[in-house]
Amino acid sequence: MGKRGLLIVISGPSGAGKGTVCQEYLKNHPETLLSVSMTTRSPRRGEKDGVNYFFTDVPAFERLIKKGGFLEYAKVYDNYYGTPKSFVEENLMAGRDLILEIDIQGALKVKEQYAEGVFIFIMPPTMEELKRRIQGRGTETQEELLKRFESSFQEVNYISHYNYLVINDNVEETAKRIEAIVIAEKCRVERNKDFYNQVTGRYRK
Ligand code: ADP
Ligand code: 5GP
Repeated sequence: MGKRGLLIVISGPSGAGKGTVCQEYLKNHPETLLSVSMTTRSPRRGEKDGVNYFFTDVPAFERLIKKGGFLEYAKVYDNYYGTPKSFVEENLMAGRDLILEIDIQGALKVKEQYAEGVFIFIMPPTMEELKRRIQGRGTETQEELLKRFESSFQEVNYISHYNYLVINDNVEETAKRIEAIVIAEKCRVERNKDFYNQVTGRYRK
């Protein structure tokens, strides 16, 4: 059997720059896939169905929950978000690395099923900068913005459930730090058992 792909789970407060950093990483790593989530929130300006999200309505989302179609799903800021199950398992089995950009509730559920995943938490350098970034993105109403900003103070309490904390001060540098994490994770002994079993088997008298 071939080596399984690496499951990279990225969370962090809204506006920390997760989407931007993932795009930068994917630009340098076209072999890595991004799991496209399904959501009931409306598309933002420029967002495309099937690229940023699969946009759907509440009844269709709930039908898919009943069918067991999600690896995990959660209600985040009053909308449903979920990770389609089959895409993840099929691609990991085929040896492809996969990024899930999901909230903390979702990440904890994924961790129960894929403890071997790499869980990365992205933070902005300061909370003032976080507010500036959400405001600068200009995609939320003032009310939505405040809801997202207030949630981030609770979210920080979950950092200890993650393996890595990466501060997004600069997009290129942050993408490089993620690259460093991925390279190191792939060298972990427990991820290379097949290799050393083969070598020790061959040379054992
Ligand atoms: P998230 O996906 O975490 O909600 P986004 O990727 O949408 O965040 O980024 C929020 C805003 O912050 C965007 O306008 C983006 O261009 C900007 N941004 C992201 N990373 C940085 C950075 N390192 N420095 C300055 N602005 C950034
Ligand atoms: P946004 O509306 O800004 O695109 O995303 C809002 C939040 O939902 C972010 O924290 C994002 O990581 C999270 N999210 C996006 N897709 C999923 C998903 O499939 N599952 C879960 N649990 N959270 C998701």
